[in-house]
Amino acid sequence: MIDLHAHSTCSDGTDSPRALINQALIQNLSVIAVTDHDTISGWVEAQSALRLNLQLVLGAEISCLTETGVSVHMLGLLFDGENQEMRKMLDETRDSRIPRMIKMIQLLNDAGISVTMDDVIAAKPDGATLGRPHLADALVNLGLIKSRDEAFQGLLNNDSPFYVSHLAPTPEVAIMQIRAAGGVAVIAHAFASLRGKVLSREDFAPMVSAGLNGIEVDHRDHSGIERGELRAIARELDLVITGSSDYHGTGKLNVLGENTTDQGQWEKLESMANERRVVRL
Ligand code: AMP
Ligand code: FE
Ligand code: FE
Ligand code: ZN
Repeated sequence: MIDLHAHSTCSDGTDSPRALINQALIQNLSVIAVTDHDTISGWVEAQSALRLNLQLVLGAEISCLTETGVSVHMLGLLFDGENQEMRKMLDETRDSRIPRMIKMIQLLNDAGISVTMDDVIAAKPDGATLGRPHLADALVNLGLIKSRDEAFQGLLNNDSPFYVSHLAPTPEVAIMQIRAAGGVAVIAHAFASLRGKVLSREDFAPMVSAGLNGIEVDHRDHSGIERGELRAIARELDLVITGSSDYHGTGKLNVLGENTTDQGQWEKLESMANERRVVRL
């Protein structure tokens, strides 16, 4: 079983990279990708936890913003972690999450909801990419809400008045950067309409021109209809079709391996990287 999208405590997952690899072994996966938001800081620990019979794909999920303000997540897999331009793009996106969090906290405070940056930092593992899930955890710790899920259904939803976006590359810039660093680019949960505004059919052609390799079709946040539409777009544009769990430990319901990628599609995707970078013992 091949799962190409999972998070650790280096972003908003609750399993350390080592625990994530152990879970992948327990679930009998053959391939697991570590794709934390805007960071590669989990790569070293994930590699050191690797065991026989499991192959590791090193990656990142890059937060992007289209020119019309649609939030898009781009999976970069199998790229060279030493690529300086790539590192710079990840650093800039990560850094901009701090002023963005300060703004969201200010908006909440203005509405009479008392939460501070210290509360959020206390809820976040050291070194993790700062995000709304940590703000949600702070609100849970303060007893203001019950769960991350409750936060994302209301207060912290993309459509909420408290939502603020952070600086991020466009999907095309992210794709070009991933490809320039030798990796492959797969657009994550592109039609997950329950998250807010999503892309439309016409948005795919420019991403293909930028070098997009694949579309994540089988994902918990896609309805059957949305999967069908994405599958048709992938066939039309000759893109690889993936399925993945987007596992976040106990931070979300998603179970490792609940959606998987077909072996043939995976081989096709892997062959598009400029080097064989899958880690195996
Ligand atoms: P941010 O990148 O700070 O805008 O936060 C978005 C992140 O929140 C995404 O990466 C999701 O993984 C996470 N997220 C979205 N919906 C939920 C949910 N219902 N429960 C937990 N985490 C969520
Ligand atoms: Fe996440
Ligand atoms: Fe995502
Ligand atoms: Zn994800």
